[in-house]
Amino acid sequence: MSINQSGWRPTSPEANTGNVPASVTGNKALMLEEALIFEIGDSHTTGVDFDTFGSPANAGAQGTKDAARNPGFLLSQENKLGGLLRTAPIGLPGLSEPETVRHYTRLSRQNYGIDLGFFPLGSCTMKHNPRLNEKMARLPGFSDVHPLQPVDTVQGALEVIHQLAHWLVTLTGMTSVAMSPKAGAHGELCGILAIRAALEAKGEGARKIILVPESAHGTNPATAAFAGYSVEDIPATAEGRVDTAALKARLGPDVAGVMITNPNTCGLFERDMREISDAVHAAGGFVYCDGANFNAIVGRVRPGDLGIDAMHINLHKTFSTPHGGGGPGSGPVVFSEALTPYAPLPFVEKQGDQFVLIEEENADEHHAGSFGRMVAFHGQMGMFTRALTYILSHGADGLRQVSEDAVLNANYILRSLDDTLDAPFGPSGPCMHEALFSDSGLATGFSTIDIAKGLIDEGFHPMTMYFPLVVHGAMLVEPTETESKAALDQFIAALRSVAERAKAGDPSLKTAPHFAPRARLDETLAARKPVLVWKDPAPLAQAAE
Ligand SMILES: *Cc1c(COP(=O)(O)O)cnc(C)c1O
Repeated sequence: MSINQSGWRPTSPEANTGNVPASVTGNKALMLEEALIFEIGDSHTTGVDFDTFGSPANAGAQGTKDAARNPGFLLSQENKLGGLLRTAPIGLPGLSEPETVRHYTRLSRQNYGIDLGFFPLGSCTMKHNPRLNEKMARLPGFSDVHPLQPVDTVQGALEVIHQLAHWLVTLTGMTSVAMSPKAGAHGELCGILAIRAALEAKGEGARKIILVPESAHGTNPATAAFAGYSVEDIPATAEGRVDTAALKARLGPDVAGVMITNPNTCGLFERDMREISDAVHAAGGFVYCDGANFNAIVGRVRPGDLGIDAMHINLHKTFSTPHGGGGPGSGPVVFSEALTPYAPLPFVEKQGDQFVLIEEENADEHHAGSFGRMVAFHGQMGMFTRALTYILSHGADGLRQVSEDAVLNANYILRSLDDTLDAPFGPSGPCMHEALFSDSGLATGFSTIDIAKGLIDEGFHPMTMYFPLVVHGAMLVEPTETESKAALDQFIAALRSVAERAKAGDPSLKTAPHFAPRARLDETLAARKPVLVWKDPAPLAQAAE
């Protein structure tokens, strides 16, 4: 049978369904199996009534008919396109409108998102995105503006950027903020480029080392290397924090700065942060803080008080703008007084009762040292509107409660499971916004991946796995403040059950998930050799016909 003509073929599902016979369709109840669009598509079908393009020879039967009906048709197309008329079919799958709608709807049902259930990915802050934010972002005055519009026609949008900048500077206790970086990693690059510009301005461009703790997010060393620095690791202490003594010992005239995540990726607050900053400054370097975990301290700690020079804020984490395939992200960077002159353009400033865009280095004395631009325009307007709505609707007391509840929820999970799962830093005290477990103590042959796959069968997106690297077989669980106690209790019961099966060596866990559309994929192969282009398996189809 040709799959191109029928759009359907009998499937032998690879998932283990126990003693229950597999369905002939491959469907599992109303969860429908879906082939690739190229497999269900058919070059003779279309959902739109365009005139047929191309010469009769290659446009198929319909093209021949059109040309016969209207002999001037091809000629007129050729005239318009000046010899660029397509001479071969483009190879797009043809689908009718209902087939197209069903294809994407079926795929969307196989997706998992924060609007479906608990999403405990550590370090990602997958919190609920309030619908009020969406409503505000969709107001035409914000959603329909164009970055090249004259500024007097977008005063409201500029005011949003200006107000958000004000609150980000206030919440962090810093001097200024660059709004344009488009994600956390982009913000890191922005911060490091500002540090580089500041060092060069002081004639200290020869400092070529950035110190990064072992527990850092992978984007930190990648950013430093991308900006031309050499990265040196700073070890962690047994209790999961930066080894302050080792860091101080490495400081010197070749060190440009440090990049430290606080709270760190083990879910712990770096208590020595002020001491570290003072030592780095005394040695002539700058302090970059990865602020992705700001959700744990927002409203309670101001990074500016800890001596930080630059820090990105993931609006899509702390301030609830959607992310995780639902992006785009937004990563404004706050700066200390020392780095402010080097921050990238543009800036929104209020002059009298007008909001203006500062787009040139020489526009005023504050931005003379700017290292340039991170992006063509002004940043992610939709994210700014959502984040400002989030900040204003929570207020100061609400934001403080965000971090308190985020930390409370994480500790509830840590203490509810540390009798079953190994919690490497559990004994040294409470955690911040995320609870760290490890696969130590599971039966031989069982590891973090088996727990993650078992959780899928229980209807939960897995936690962050094998990160941070300082802990072997790490499992990082970040509940955020937006989960109810009932949701946490259900997750705890599920994780406890899966962990007990892994400790008992239950062989069925090694083949989990059993209820998912696909079971264990070769994730390494998929990452190393992704198949991104569909090729017509012509010999196969011919053989079948
Ligand atoms: C998410 C995250 C980043 C990167 O942020 P993106 O917006 O994904 O680029 C960097 N560091 C830490 C600790 C993070 O959790």
